[in-house]
Amino acid sequence: MTAQIIDGNALARQIRADVAHRTAALKAAGIAPSLAIILVGDDPASQVYTRHKVNDSIETGLHAALERYPVNLPEADLLRRIDVLNQDPTVHAILVQLPLPGHMDSGKVIQAIAPDKDVDGFNVASAGALMVGRPGFRPCTPYGCMKMLEAIGCELKGKHAVVIGRSNIVGKPMALMLLAQNATVTICHSATRDLKALTRQADVVVAAVGKRKMLSADMVKPGAVVIDVGMNRTEQGKLCGDVDFDGVKEVAGWITPVPGGVGPMTRAMLLVNTLEAAERSASNRGH
Ligand code: NDP
Repeated sequence: MTAQIIDGNALARQIRADVAHRTAALKAAGIAPSLAIILVGDDPASQVYTRHKVNDSIETGLHAALERYPVNLPEADLLRRIDVLNQDPTVHAILVQLPLPGHMDSGKVIQAIAPDKDVDGFNVASAGALMVGRPGFRPCTPYGCMKMLEAIGCELKGKHAVVIGRSNIVGKPMALMLLAQNATVTICHSATRDLKALTRQADVVVAAVGKRKMLSADMVKPGAVVIDVGMNRTEQGKLCGDVDFDGVKEVAGWITPVPGGVGPMTRAMLLVNTLEAAERSASNRGH
């Protein structure tokens, strides 16, 4: 059996087209959806990520402003700037690129973002809203994974989903989103005993670990859906996921590739969240 590929690039393209369409409608009503991206320091990967975020936004008609600050920016200055953006009605969405320099408390900075502008979905209000099933911004990576499951018509009710990884930005929100769709969810982590015994029972496996080839073919139930969140590098410097793609694709029913799977979906969901921040703000103002 060879798994069907879940094409993240193609799905992200569809999502971007929908965002562009809805953005045009909002602009016609006099609202220009706007995202403020804050980058502190000159981490090369962060520079690439923020450039992608700006370009993706511009391509879909969203307004994006990148604010760059030196690595030694005092935390208090950053908090003051976030407060100004929070109060600015023309800014609908705020994203602080992580990681922040060591002298800053990332948790405190993320908490300073107003929940109705927290398009990364990382602040405690957003996490709490997800936990209790209230509207709020969902973290882009697990949100993108859910869209992929939806796109292939994966009915989650009653299915066993195993999430490997329990970070606040991927594993935990992923598990909560699967649970909200009535899957039975197992969360695995570095202290899990006999991971293979658990993954072999799973109808859906989400690998969000950061270890190359940690999910091998013998760990997967035939026909399962495998979502690979991992972003690692081979010895040759090539991007790869957590899943042994060549082996697992012979067992799984569906599989996401790396690159071209979860990565583009994560980028697309930031656009969705930004647009929705503007749509909500417009409806609150009676547009
Ligand atoms: P973290 O390092 O925060 O979390 C990794 C998780 O994996 C932890 O919960 C850890 O357990 C668990 N883990 C580590 N080793 C094992 C093991 N041997 N068996 C089972 N679980 C294990 O990473 P993130 O959640 O931030 O990211 C995970 C991966 O996803 C990374 O490769 C990252 O680059 C990628 N990523 C990709 C994105 C995309 O857009 N495609 C976006 C975000 C992340 P414990 O908690 O016990 O330490």
